[in-house]
Amino acid sequence: MGQLNTGYYQTVVEIPKQLGDIKKIKREDSLFIAGGTLLQLNWEAGINRPSHLISMEMVKELHGIQKVSIDRKEFLEIGAATTLADCCEHKSIVEHAPILADACKKIAAPAVRNRGTIGGNIAGKVGDSIPVLFVLEAKLCVYDGEKETIISIQEWLKTTIQQNPVLIITKILIPIKNKEKENYFFQKVGRRESFTAAVISIAGFLKIADKKVTAARFAIGGGAHLPQRLIGAEEILVDTSGDLFAFYKAVETSFSTYSDAFVTEKYRKKVAANILFAKCREIIEKSE
Ligand SMILES: Cc1cc2nc3c(=O)[nH]c(=O)nc-3n(C[C@H](O)[C@H](O)[C@H](O)COP(=O)(O)OP(=O)(O)OC[C@H]3O[C@@H](n4cnc5c(N)ncnc54)[C@H](O)[C@@H]3O)c2cc1C
Repeated sequence: MGQLNTGYYQTVVEIPKQLGDIKKIKREDSLFIAGGTLLQLNWEAGINRPSHLISMEMVKELHGIQKVSIDRKEFLEIGAATTLADCCEHKSIVEHAPILADACKKIAAPAVRNRGTIGGNIAGKVGDSIPVLFVLEAKLCVYDGEKETIISIQEWLKTTIQQNPVLIITKILIPIKNKEKENYFFQKVGRRESFTAAVISIAGFLKIADKKVTAARFAIGGGAHLPQRLIGAEEILVDTSGDLFAFYKAVETSFSTYSDAFVTEKYRKKVAANILFAKCREIIEKSE
């Protein structure tokens, strides 16, 4: 286990090599760090640097991308320390979860993607990958200092450091469903074309059988949104077998958003409803 004293800021960085070491070195003032790209933003915004950082970079259980079988179901398992750059290009992610690769390509610029990790993106709770993981029905493996368990993304979003000071995301589990890959979509809307924070990030999936919408999942995040599923709008689309006008209204009602100095709440709702309407119409028409 390495230790680095960063001197000027009086921050000690510990670099454990395995999960089991973390509980031993964890202090009350510790903070986990992976690529440090989101934390760097926080520190630049004036949030105090902690005096003790525990780096996730060398923890062996947080690395690797492979297919695994759990309860006879196949999953793509992605180590939380996988960089966003690797998520854009890794053969298995491109093959089994192409919308995740697509979403990661739209996060920040190459230098940030080379350092930033998928685990840090999820752990920060506002990352653009989260809406995609919602619609892929991904799960998270988390380590609580004693054991690893599997939880949903929704459960992760509800966790607080106070509840469990040692909760670490170790792996992301994505169910492998090779059918209907083309029925997934991701779109990030920013105030300019590239290298920009999202106004909204939208992910979606439609299942169509006998010309009817039989399942739908939509999620929105980006900006300062806590990522959310649009359950009400999903139900309307399925219950009405694809009535896109009823769906449009339901998106505007179910999407909980905000105004800031640049974009109003009303505008965000309209953009979300327009994108979802257009993407769903495209998928429905293609199936006919
Ligand atoms: C210029 C710039 C542009 C950016 N643009 C975008 C963007 O467009 N979209 C976007 O989504 N993000 C963006 N980000 C934010 C950030 O780069 C990403 O969210 C990145 O994925 C964070 O990963 P990281 O490894 O650097 O996390 P860190 O900064 O190391 O950590 C982030 C948080 O997660 C915690 N953490 C890290 N790993 C784990 C783990 N395994 N288990 C539990 N907790 C953990 C840390 O304690 C911290 O609270 C941007 C950042 C910068 C600097």
